[in-house]
Amino acid sequence: MSSSAESYPISKRNRVVRRPMRGHYDKATVHGILDAALLCHIAYVIDGQPYCTPTSFWREGGKLYWHGSSASRMIRSQGAGLPVCLTVTHMDAIVLARCGFNHSVNYRAVMAYGVAHLISDPEEKARLMDRFLERFFPGRASLMRRPTKQEIKATSFIGMEIEQASAKIRDLHVHDEEADYAVPAWTALLPVRTVLGKIEECPRQLPGVRKPRGMKGYVAGRPMDEIFAEAYRAYEKAFD
Ligand SMILES: Cc1cc2nc3c(=O)[nH]c(=O)nc-3n(C[C@H](O)[C@H](O)[C@H](O)COP(=O)(O)OP(=O)(O)OC[C@H]3O[C@@H](n4cnc5c(N)ncnc54)[C@H](O)[C@@H]3O)c2cc1C
Repeated sequence: MSSSAESYPISKRNRVVRRPMRGHYDKATVHGILDAALLCHIAYVIDGQPYCTPTSFWREGGKLYWHGSSASRMIRSQGAGLPVCLTVTHMDAIVLARCGFNHSVNYRAVMAYGVAHLISDPEEKARLMDRFLERFFPGRASLMRRPTKQEIKATSFIGMEIEQASAKIRDLHVHDEEADYAVPAWTALLPVRTVLGKIEECPRQLPGVRKPRGMKGYVAGRPMDEIFAEAYRAYEKAFD
């Protein structure tokens, strides 16, 4: 395995073989893709059956965390120390080419490997509950009602040290075989963005309660990956 303080170790498990020039292992690139997302998919195997569960997550240094109902099969199984692969994907464009083979998509993706473990200490669970909220913007937890003992009991948190990770990025325009440029097919790059929709305040909002200053970046029409990345930087600064 080759590695450095700035990069994740590389082995057969995470070395990008298909299109290796698109592979990255440095922490700045891997973390940048993770921090621009709220949603991940976590793959794991129970009794030989693979599952891949979508859920929300966040990063603290070299660790990833997610949570769920204490009754959840995913949580109960992973908590016992299951190897997992957590993936994040941002689709950036659809690439329409002059033949089916050259159709493609632009993307930024991460696959992160580690062993999941259950966090059972109630104080650490309460801290993680706050961190999950703070991930949206620092200071959010202090605006909330504190979690009850029952809520903390009903919620389980799973943590995973990132043992290895790979990022894969495609950021190219239409690319066809030279002879195919004579084909009169319409080709294009179709940029794809997930943007924040028009914010709908709760109809039961108390009079005078304003959108917190920390949420000023949450503006309708803005790409969510930008918003999440910015919020993550503020969160990281607050807990440095
Ligand atoms: C939105 C999207 C759409 C895609 N569509 C297609 C498609 O239609 N057809 C297709 O063949 N491929 C597609 N890919 C690429 C696909 O994810 C794989 O990279 C590719 O299929 C090669 O898989 P492999 O297991 O053979 O790769 P290998 O290179 O053998 O994988 C070895 C290791 O490289 C790393 N790795 C591989 N792929 C990724 C990745 N995407 N992100 C992070 N790490 C990675 C992993 O750690 C993996 O274990 C798409 C990717 C994205 C994000």
